[in-house]
Order: sequence, then structure tokens, then C-alpha cells
Amino acid sequence: MSSLCLRGGLVIDPANGSAGALRDLAVRNGRIVAPAAGEVFDQEIDAGGCVLMAGGIDMHTHIGGGKVNLARLLMTEDHRDGLDPIALPSNPLELASCGNCAPGTLATGYRYVEMGYTAAFEPAMVPSNARHAHMEMGDVPILDHGAYVMLGNDELFLQLLAEGGPQSRNFAQLRDYTAWTINASKAMGVKVVNPAGISAFKFNQRKLDVNEPHVRWQVTPRQVVHTLARALRELGVPHPLHIHASNLGVAGNIASTLETITALEGLPAHLTHVQFHAYGSDGPKKFSSAALQLAEAVNANPQISIDVGQIIFGQTVTASGDTMRQHAQSALASPRKWVGADIEGMAGCGVVPFRYREQSYVNALQWAIGLEIFLLVNNPWQVVLTTDHPNGGPFTSYPHLIRLLMDRAFRDEQLAKLHPEVAANCALSSITRELTLAEVAILTRAAPARLLGLPDHGHLGVGAVADIAVYREQSDREAMFRTPEYVFKDGALVARAGRVTATPVGGTHFIEPSYDSTIEKTLRRHWDAHGAIRFDHVAIDRDELCRCANGGRLLPAACFEGVS
Ligand SMILES: [Zn+2]
Ligand SMILES: [Zn+2]
Repeated sequence: MSSLCLRGGLVIDPANGSAGALRDLAVRNGRIVAPAAGEVFDQEIDAGGCVLMAGGIDMHTHIGGGKVNLARLLMTEDHRDGLDPIALPSNPLELASCGNCAPGTLATGYRYVEMGYTAAFEPAMVPSNARHAHMEMGDVPILDHGAYVMLGNDELFLQLLAEGGPQSRNFAQLRDYTAWTINASKAMGVKVVNPAGISAFKFNQRKLDVNEPHVRWQVTPRQVVHTLARALRELGVPHPLHIHASNLGVAGNIASTLETITALEGLPAHLTHVQFHAYGSDGPKKFSSAALQLAEAVNANPQISIDVGQIIFGQTVTASGDTMRQHAQSALASPRKWVGADIEGMAGCGVVPFRYREQSYVNALQWAIGLEIFLLVNNPWQVVLTTDHPNGGPFTSYPHLIRLLMDRAFRDEQLAKLHPEVAANCALSSITRELTLAEVAILTRAAPARLLGLPDHGHLGVGAVADIAVYREQSDREAMFRTPEYVFKDGALVARAGRVTATPVGGTHFIEPSYDSTIEKTLRRHWDAHGAIRFDHVAIDRDELCRCANGGRLLPAACFEGVS
């Protein structure tokens, strides 16, 4: 293996307490090392005038699994008019990948790496579709990846929850089932989407509030959320429950979002795409910003983290496990087409194309709400930068979003272009905060690594993996973060001045919490009666995971000592 020294850059490494220091950064055998005086390196690069950060980590981006493929199928125009196709002379096959809001796997890897990102996590892997999700992520070049498996709308979970009653007498069974599912699907965590609501939709309920019972199982979203969050805590899963709360996109849904936090009773959790869950029902259009209430709740609950799901104006496609809410939004599809689907009654899926418009009051306010949340949460370690790609907009808009957060004048300029009533009906124009480079480094790499339990990622301390982005310092932060000078993955150069130069296969992050295997008796009975494949074939073992993931490295993360 080779060694490398990046000389004289501004190293921004908040995980190690550094908001910025001019120094050399040395790499040997794919890891960050402490440079010794007079040491000779295989390669030296002058990083003067550059800002160095760990590789970016997107902890919530839809890049693998059934609904992403459905989005690609639905959005043929995105592939006709999408970004420039990829041309690598060494491999003519790679010409085939393009697309903007529903990019192909190759374009996904290239576009992330071109911006200095080196890892991405798929948030909604359905257990019965886990093989496909891993294969699809394995087909994304360069990026390390992992996925959160969906639970809380599958029939077996709801049935067991109902059997245990409000006291959760069979909690150990639910916890073992959760652990088994994480192992079987080789997941990095668990996501619950519209807790019990996707299932309730199949029984003709069209909404489900946090304390409202599911008509078939008589369980509530509150019970689902609390049970899963408790199970992950007892199993020692590093990433706490990833929650897509009830009532996504509904005016006034701040009430159910706050109620979800209450339902957790102090258990740690990650609330995802909170922009879509921070709406009031005040004002002339009965649709208002509840960003302040949401931010106050996050500020008061240090055990809660969030990602924002910022919206970006223009064409995108929304792809969600939340069939109930996607069905409700389908009338607004643009272009007018949509898909709803399910596999083995385990969860759901809805794909609805959407165009966010600057002159729409609702869309413009959604844009402002996202930015308000970023700027009103005090502790950057609780916030992750996302657009919920592609739901709020494509991930390629991150450099633009970073400029909005770092540059108040630019932000005000954009706000002035929007529907005229929006500025008057939200607090954004009065918020003066501009994020610093160190805060951006937290939101885009350090916090996601910490929230996922990846101790050797997201920072540049000795021993960390040498995933490094080198940005030329520029006052135009969008230009700066659009095209890093150099991007290194595990110490190897993978992009230079916005062009991918090498395509190593990324690794797969996953966890393997332990459990009592007697749960398999219950599972076998359930799969024999209801499953489309034999129970013995459901679980993915390590060898198969490696094959699914294109031969990439397996990166098991450690669980901590569970707390019961
Ligand atoms: Zn979601
Ligand atoms: Zn999402």
C-alpha cells in the first residue's frame, strides 16, 4: 500500500475538537497516520489554500431497493433530459448511466464522489427485498453503503405487538424478532415509516394519529415507536430508531411529531426528513411554519437527532415507503403518473413525481421551514444535512444548500424570488445565523458518522479511514463544495477537479446484534404460512452479502452493551 501527505491545508476536524488548523495530513495504507519528522511519502500534494474535511456521509438517501428502481422506470424523461451521461473511456458500459432525480447506480456513485462524498445510506430497505437493495448499492461504485431495514408495518410485528397487549408482555419476542431481521437483512439500523400507518392503509384507514388504534390490530403508532426504540436500545444498536413520523406532509402535523417524541419517553431516536413533519395550520392558507416548535423540542431533548429533508425547487420524484401519504399526494403528481406497490405485505411504497415551484405558497414555505430548522437547532451534532434524496430534491443540490446555510445575503436573495407572502409568514428573513465551515463538516460527515456508530469515519484523527475531500477555499460556497480539488477513498485518489479517476468497489456497513434463536420457531411458522420463499432462504449470510455487494469489503460495526 502507498503513503501520501497533503501539505499545508486547513484541516477541519470537529470530531477531534478542531474548527480548523493549518497542518499536514498524512496517510499510510488507507488510514490517517501521524506524520513523523523527515518522513518520506510516495506522494506529496500541496494543499495550500484548500480546506480538508473527512469524506461526506449521507445518512438518508434513497439509492437502493425496489422503489428507487420504480422511480427510474417511471421517470423516463429524467434519463432523457438528465445530467450529462458518464463517459469513462476505459469502460464504454458506463455511458449507460445518467439521470438527475432518479439517477442510475453508476451516476449515483459518480455524482456523490464528485462532490466529496464517500458514503451513503439507504433508509428504507424492505426485509423481503434486502437482496435487491444490497445488489443495487453494490452496483454503486466507490461509495461505502449500508441500509436501515423497515419494521413496524409488517403483519408479524403488529400481530406480536397486539398479542402482548399494552404492557408488552412478550417484549422479548419483539426484541428478538427485531434483532433477527437486522441480521437476516444485513442492515445498519431500523427505520419505521408512518408507524402502523402503512398497514392501516391496507385496511382502508386514510390517516393514523399517534394515539389512534389500527383498525385490524388495535395497536397505536405510539406503541410501535416505543417498542422498536426500546428494542434497539436493549440490543445495543448504535443508530437509534430512525423514525419517519405519522402524518407526513399534513398541515398541522407538528402535533403528531411532538407527540412522537413524547411517546419515546426519553429513549434515543433519529427523526428523519423533519421538514415534512414541522407544519402548523395557522395563517391565511392554514399552512404555517412550525420550525421553531420542532427546533425547541430538539434543543430540549439531546437524545434526539434529526435530518432535515430540505426541499429544492425544480423537478424531482418522491419515493417513499409511506403508501398512505403517497396515495394522498398522488393527485398532485407532476407529471401525472404514480406507482404504489408492496412486497409480501411487509411494508409499502409509493412513487410520485413532483415539481417544487417557487411561486407556490406551500412549496416556498416548505423551503423556508427546512432552512429554519437547520438554523434554529443549536447543537449541530443533532442535525444531518439531507434533502431526503430524491424526495425533497436530488442530492446533487447539496452544494447549493450549503451556500444557503453559510451565506445570509444569498439566502435572502433567494427568499425574495419566492411567493410574495412567504417571507411575511415565516421567521427565516430575521434569522442571521450563518453556518461555519466546522458546522458544515459536522452536518455532512462528523455527526452522521457518530449517529451511525462508525468510530473510524467522519473525522481525520489518527487511525481514521483516509476518506478525504480537499476543497479549494472560495467565498462562493456553492462553487467550493461543488467541485473539490481532490477526493480520496481509503487513501486512494478517486476524483480530481470534479472528474472521477478510479472506481474501487465500496464496502458494506452492517451490524449483527445478538438474540435468542428460539424466535426462529415463530418466524418459521409465519414464513411457512405466508412467505413467498422458504424460511431457510430468507436470511443473507456474510458470504452472500459479499457477493450481493459486488465483492466489496464487509464492514461490520460493533454494537454497544445493551441497556435494559
Ligand atoms: Zn421516509
Ligand atoms: Zn427518505
